[in-house]
Amino acid sequence: MKTYLSEIFSSIQGEGPYVGERHLFVRFCACHRKCVYCDTNTELSETCIVEKKPGSGEFEQIKNPMSVEQVADLIREVDAKTQNKQISITGGAPLMQSRFLLKLLPILKSEGHSIYLETAGDLPKELKAIIEWIDVVAMDVKLESVTEEPATFPAHWQFLKLCRTYDVEVFVKLILSANTHEGELMTAAKGIKKAGGEDTLVVIQPMTKAEKTDAVPTIEQLFRWQDKVTSVLPNVRVIPQTHKMMEML
Ligand code: SF4
Repeated sequence: MKTYLSEIFSSIQGEGPYVGERHLFVRFCACHRKCVYCDTNTELSETCIVEKKPGSGEFEQIKNPMSVEQVADLIREVDAKTQNKQISITGGAPLMQSRFLLKLLPILKSEGHSIYLETAGDLPKELKAIIEWIDVVAMDVKLESVTEEPATFPAHWQFLKLCRTYDVEVFVKLILSANTHEGELMTAAKGIKKAGGEDTLVVIQPMTKAEKTDAVPTIEQLFRWQDKVTSVLPNVRVIPQTHKMMEML
């Protein structure tokens, strides 16, 4: 079995409640969505770039597609030079490769790694196939007014319920832009509460300027939306993409 990866590197987690922790990132190619603010190349790339010495900016090009053994070996090599707390499985949409993950994750777990899954949070069937190997789920709840794609709330609620049923640590990321529709935001907050419970941690991530949009929310908007979401779910933090500020991978 083989897959397409775009990057393997060790860096500082720049998003969410684990911000600042050292993670080893394994970035899968391809995505089933087209969020307007996407900052990732979601095409299948011919090669995967691997930064073996963290922060060096020196990348080795490894030909795609890669086998499970090849990916596990590259992870061992990058990890041996660092102190990574978790392996961050990211994309693209890594759950599109759930059959590959079903082979890779047991190897990584048997070697003592904690697995952190970054996901659009809308492929519950694929999550269920690998959930026993996951320690932390960082899931998005996507708003139509922000992504400029049709909303997928029912899939998000199934996804969040699944994390709760299997007792996996989960938090929800709401990416908000200046175009955020407040009614839609509150529908999302109520849906999160119903599917995940009142104690669900919600991270509001202000959208970062991207190639196709510069609708960055204002500070006043962020304060207002944090207050509004907090009226439904008490545990709400505003955390921007800090790796972009530091110009890191
Ligand atoms: S889900 Fe993530 S990778 Fe896919 S299009 Fe949206 S932002 Fe990009």
